[in-house]
Amino acid sequence: MSAKKIAIVGGGNAGLSVASKLLIKDKSLQITIFDPSETHYYQPAWTLVGAGIYDVNDTIKKEADYIPKGTTWVRDAVMEFIPDANKLVTQKGTSYTYDVLIICPGIQLDWQKIKGLKETLGKNNVSSNYSHEFAPYTWQMIKNFKGGNAVFTNPSTPIKCGGAPHKIMYLACDYWRKQGILDKTNVYYISGGGVIFGIPEYAETLKKVIAEDNIQPIYKADVVEIDAANKKVFYEQKNESGQAERKELHFDICHAVPPQSAPDFIKKSQLADPKNPYGYVEVDMHTLQHTRYSNVFSLGDSSSAPASKTGAAIRKQAPVVTENVLAFLNNKPITAKYEGYSACPIPTKYGKLMLAEFDYSNTPKMTFPFNQAKPRWTMWMLKTKVLPWLYWHKILKGTA
Ligand SMILES: Cc1cc2nc3c(=O)[nH]c(=O)nc-3n(C[C@H](O)[C@H](O)[C@H](O)COP(=O)(O)OP(=O)(O)OC[C@H]3O[C@@H](n4cnc5c(N)ncnc54)[C@H](O)[C@@H]3O)c2cc1C
Repeated sequence: MSAKKIAIVGGGNAGLSVASKLLIKDKSLQITIFDPSETHYYQPAWTLVGAGIYDVNDTIKKEADYIPKGTTWVRDAVMEFIPDANKLVTQKGTSYTYDVLIICPGIQLDWQKIKGLKETLGKNNVSSNYSHEFAPYTWQMIKNFKGGNAVFTNPSTPIKCGGAPHKIMYLACDYWRKQGILDKTNVYYISGGGVIFGIPEYAETLKKVIAEDNIQPIYKADVVEIDAANKKVFYEQKNESGQAERKELHFDICHAVPPQSAPDFIKKSQLADPKNPYGYVEVDMHTLQHTRYSNVFSLGDSSSAPASKTGAAIRKQAPVVTENVLAFLNNKPITAKYEGYSACPIPTKYGKLMLAEFDYSNTPKMTFPFNQAKPRWTMWMLKTKVLPWLYWHKILKGTA
């Protein structure tokens, strides 16, 4: 019997983890990873870069050094899927066939959906930790700030790491408090959400931080424009009759997070979930198998599984996809199930971190034998030291 051909679209956190895990279980698989990027990013540390305690260069490594041995890397972007023919087509126009397709090209940052944002990023006191290019500028802004209006934004679309828009805000406030600047500052959090965090046990901790830092949340509001020349953020907020009202706020510094959606080539493909406004790959939320094409699986930020989009979620999704792909290839029932686990490590101050863990039931699922809703130094060490090491040495290698 000829070797089974697995095509993996995206060699990021999810793609490399699942490729490594598959090979550990079955060396005979012929795995091809499609990814045009020469670099691999450890994105969770960009918050720490923005907070001035992590070198951005330590978050960027050569993709070639992490492609699992025994797989083939095609340095080309996938542009089209023809699932009825088990075929995909790349940007360079080459077609490939597969027995199993695993889709994980991450999420798309829709910067252009906020008018004026892209043009001003990285200058005029507007930044975003959502790009390695600008995260160092976030720190410049925080460090050089002398007081005034500090605006942090969070879109209403699902995003990768739902905590990242406010993590940087708490660290900035802590820094300004120590510099004696917080008293001269109005901190605003403009968020598309209706609460600070979806799980009450963890939200309680953050509400206290918000009160201590004197942060003014503006909920159910979407930023639509940033006018850098006039230092204004415009946002739309629904009034009591449900109509969107346009409002504005002056800023001296602004940390902006763009709306996000599935990459366009996924959205326009037959594999996208037609019911999902963000166009993710349509999978069963537990088995991560496509609901219409049984030889297609998806995990990570581009899948429709309604979990919080994080690397932590991928750690639990990758073993499920591995097991179910192998079961599919061996004509066995698909039984492995993902229960929606995700985690959000939220620093509340330099040296203090709340590790929020939860699943589809939206209740805390704590790993450690203590109350993780309480910010701790040990959890800060986990985020700043242990997890980056684990990522490069174990997670991408499929052994954690
Ligand atoms: C500021 C920030 C803070 C975060 N903090 C945390 C945190 O504390 N904890 C946590 O767990 N997670 C965190 N995350 C989220 C985490 O980084 C992502 O959830 C994770 O990287 C998603 O993995 P992925 O493989 O789905 O996508 P990615 O890791 O983004 O990889 C996608 C890959 O697909 C490739 N690709 C794109 N298009 C194509 C195409 N057409 N064809 C082929 N390949 C393609 C890309 O080049 C890339 O290599 C954070 C993210 C950010 C931005």
